[in-house]
Parts: sequence; structure tokens; C-alpha cells
Amino acid sequence: MTEGTRPTNFIRQIIDADLASGKHSLVVTRFPPEPNGYLHIGHAKSICLNFGIARDYRGRCHLRMDDTNPAKEEAEYVEAIKQDVHWLGFDWGEDAYHAADYFEQLYQWAEALIRAGKAYVDDQSAEEVRRTRGTLTAPGTPSPFRNRSPAENLDLFRRMRGGEFPDGSRTLRAKIDMASPNLNLRDPVMYRIRREHHPRTGDKWCIYPTYDWAHGQSDAIEGITHSLCTLEFEAHRPLYDWFLEQIGIEHRPRQIEFARLNLTYTVMSKRLLNTLVKDGLVSGWDDPRMPTIAGLRRRGYTPEAIRLFCDRIGVAKADSTVEMDLLENTLRETLNVSAPRALCVHRPLKVVVENWDEGRVDQIDALFMPESPATGSRKLPFTRELFIEREDFMEVPVKGWRRLSPGKEVRLRHAYVLRCTGVKKDSSTGEVTELRATIDPETRSANPKDGRKVGGTIHWVSAPLSSPATLRLYDRLFQVANPGAGEIDFRTQINPRSLQVVEGARVEAALAAVKPAERYQFERKGYYFADPKDSREGAPVFNLIVPLRDTWGKSAAG
Ligand code: ATP
Ligand code: MG
Repeated sequence: MTEGTRPTNFIRQIIDADLASGKHSLVVTRFPPEPNGYLHIGHAKSICLNFGIARDYRGRCHLRMDDTNPAKEEAEYVEAIKQDVHWLGFDWGEDAYHAADYFEQLYQWAEALIRAGKAYVDDQSAEEVRRTRGTLTAPGTPSPFRNRSPAENLDLFRRMRGGEFPDGSRTLRAKIDMASPNLNLRDPVMYRIRREHHPRTGDKWCIYPTYDWAHGQSDAIEGITHSLCTLEFEAHRPLYDWFLEQIGIEHRPRQIEFARLNLTYTVMSKRLLNTLVKDGLVSGWDDPRMPTIAGLRRRGYTPEAIRLFCDRIGVAKADSTVEMDLLENTLRETLNVSAPRALCVHRPLKVVVENWDEGRVDQIDALFMPESPATGSRKLPFTRELFIEREDFMEVPVKGWRRLSPGKEVRLRHAYVLRCTGVKKDSSTGEVTELRATIDPETRSANPKDGRKVGGTIHWVSAPLSSPATLRLYDRLFQVANPGAGEIDFRTQINPRSLQVVEGARVEAALAAVKPAERYQFERKGYYFADPKDSREGAPVFNLIVPLRDTWGKSAAG
């Protein structure tokens, strides 16, 4: 599927049916992140689904901060979430909301449930509530406070709100069925006492609603028609519907569950990602190795690639794990048709071209994208001193070696066939320090069809007319497909080669003034992104977005 083709899935089929039957005429979805961390690629799936449906059905998608839990860093997270959704290419228009803005309405509805005998104040501790909940095979034990009168419950609930009781000493519970086979219906907790400052409501509240009590009611308040959530909420759906029934609201949102995205070689829970940040195992939420939207953006991913990936993985009802390869291949595919080519020597080895005059500079015209000439070209200066990749030379070549070695020829990309005529070494270490070579002036070609049979083509830059660059070679953050599985501390499974910094790389002259956030394919290497924070004109810093081919598990890039 290419981007823009309208996907189909079981959720869209439900919506189609709801529109056809006249149940709804306007589709309203929502994306409800809890502002307790940065968004990750799993959230991107939900964003593409919810905002994609709103776009395709000309409906609305609300951005709702699910901030029923007071969290200290909320403001930073709210800003980051908004930036990430916009960057992915979606817009909520006027429809930005906070669940905390519904606290008063939720409270009023809770009082109504109490008056109707459908909720009660329980004096048991959280621990006792958990212990008396029963199991899948045994019913729960009713609380001794279950049959308080509505008047007593109302009085106690108001005093809970008023701050009369210590944290955790009482809860408000829905009065449903302690013997229900669905544990979520065994008198679920609606409110807890927690004296915590809320970034939006300050110290106004010392009782906070639970997810179950807040979520469906928030959906109803906003007129959401289809409330899409991940599979773990499937067993909560009867409760979602029960609460809506009790508050007697006319508008009935419908909860539909879909499988969450799991991806190999990474972790995808905000709690674990937060641990990586807090423990300093990565440089921050936007570390280019993080599966966060901010990290992927900083790495050099494009929003198009992420949207296309989300289209491709589809939306299903059964949990599965997607291979990281699929994400990386989708990325390569999109960059292949969008990133200009450039030459960058990662670990330079000097070559002196003996039959090229000192001071002579020829400007070779080279297309940025040989497949699409319309994208233009740049000049590659050719000079007597060049740099080639150290690993493209082998003094004693192994069998089948197709690159440079003494007496052998290679083609220089966009330029001449070059023959190695001599090797200089450091007398103490034996390290090769310089190559001597000659070029065949008859072979200059941007399109090497001159009939010459040479082993391979290598990249190069002019030594004096190239620029130094720093490369950050990123690899997968974890060395195992399933970090944290089997009770292993996921922090011990970080790939020690997930970041290698290469100083002293050389980029071709055209990239001397590269601007932050530009993307290139460094030929034979991979796709690179001028780091938006650290790259400077004259001192570029490039992040490896993804190597050209899948080098994972074979040899690290570089
Ligand atoms: P995490 O477990 O990573 O902290 P969460 O579900 O607690 O995630 P929320 O901020 O509550 O994070 O999620 C906002 C929305 O994104 C929810 O509707 C949730 O279902 C969805 N979502 C979260 N993780 C994924 C995922 N891996 N795949 C698809 N949707 C997801
Ligand atoms: Mg959550």
C-alpha cells in the first residue's frame, strides 16, 4: 500500500455501518494520552488510526489530555505531545481538551449514582479491597460498608471531597456485583483520596477519579462516537457501558478495542522509557535511539515513513509483535526516493594521485539523485590529494576482494578509474598512512560505461576541498529482540554499540554549509540526518538514520 490509499479495517467497517444505518452522521474520535511521558511509536499507531479516521470521514478527532492522575512534569509532556501529533501531520483544530476539566461534572454524576444507590463509600483500605475482590473462579466478598444508606454515603463522599479523611483511608465504589464473572464489575473503585497538587486544578481536589470512571464519561461529554482503545480494555467495556447507562446521558460513545503495537528490539511503555531517561542510559526522551516520536524525529525519521508504517501494520484484533525490520525497511524505501546522494568518507585514508598536478581542481558534475535528474546536481572537486575509506583498501587482499589493493584498480564514484601504485606506512606501528595512485584520464564518467572492467566502485572526497564532520552511528538500542522478557532487567540488555561517535569524517564540498535537519544518502553507507540541535554550519554533525542495507547482526555500520 502506498500512502494515501485509504486503508480498510474492522473499525472502519463498523463506522461505515453506523453511517449507513444513520446511527451517526458525524464521526468523532479522540486520542487520549496521559501526560506522564513522551509519545512513542505505539502511540503513533493510535494517532494515525484516530486522526486518520477523522480525516477520511470528514469528522473530528479530539486531543484529550487524560490527566486524571496528578503528575508533576505534566506541562513539559503536554507540550511535547502536541508537538509530536503536529509533526506526524495531524491537527485537532479547536478540539484540545483535558479530562481534569471534567472533574466537577464527574463529581456531580458520582453524587447522582450515590443517590440512586449505585455507589458507596468504602472504609476498607486499598489492600483490603484488592484482597476481597475474589478470583476468576471465586466470587468477591462484599464490603461490610456496602449497604450504607445513600444519605450516609452522600455525607461521607462530601466529606471526602472536603478533605476530612486521610489519603487512602476511603474510596468511592460503584455498587454493581461482587459475584460477577468479570472482575471489573466487582464494585470497581471510582474515587481515591490523594492529596496531590494537580498541574491544572491545583489543590482544589483531594479526591481523584479512576480511569474507568473518568474515561467513558469524558467521551460522552465530548460527543465521541467511536472510542478506540487497546485490547487490555476489552474486559472494561461492560463497565464503560454500565457507567454511561447509570448517568443516563443520551449520547452513547462506543468503545472498540484494537491490538497495540509491539516492536522487536525496543521497549514501549512510558514507565520503562522513563527509566532509561532517569537512569541516564540515554541522553533524554529525544535520544535518537528511543522509540519515542521525539527520538525518531531527532534520528531523522520522516513523518511520511511513520504514517506509511502505521498503514502497513494495519489494525487488527489480535496482539502481535512487529519486526523492527519492517519499520526500518519502510524508512529506507521512503528515503530512497527523497534523500539526495552525497559522498562521505567515514574513516579517511589519504591517496595522492601522482599523475594529477598539484593545484589543479576539476569540478565534476554529479547528479544528486541519478534516478531523478530533475533534482539537480552538484560539483565534486577532484584534486591531487583525496580521501578514501580506510576499509576500502586492503594491502593483502582476501580472496574475492573487489576494492583497492596494491597494483589493482577501482572506480571512483562519478570520477576516474584509479590504480594503487604504492603504500606508505608508519614505521613504528606498521599502519598504512597514505596511498600513492594514478588515474586513467580516459575513464572520467558519471555513467561508467566506458568498457573498463574494474572490481568495484568506491566513494571518495577531495582532501583539501572537503569538510570535517562528526558522525553518530546509531544502532538498535537493545541487543535482544524482546528486552525484559523472562524477568531479565532490560537495562542490562542495552546494545553497547548502539552509539558510536566518529570524529574526523569528511563530507564532500557541497555539504560544507549543510543546514540542520537535512537528509542525505551517503553512498554505500546509509541515510544521514544533520542533527537539528548540534549540527553547525562548518561543523556538521550527522545522525545515522538507518544503514543502506540491513547490517544488523552482521557488522555494525561504518
Ligand atoms: P504506555 O503503556 O506506553 O505508558 P499508555 O497506554 O499508558 O501507554 P496512554 O498515554 O494512556 O499510554 O495512551 C494514549 C493512547 O495511545 C491510548 O488510547 C492507548 O490505547 C494508545 N496506545 C498506547 N500504547 C499503544 C501501543 N503500543 N499501540 C497502540 N496504541 C497505543
Ligand atoms: Mg495509560
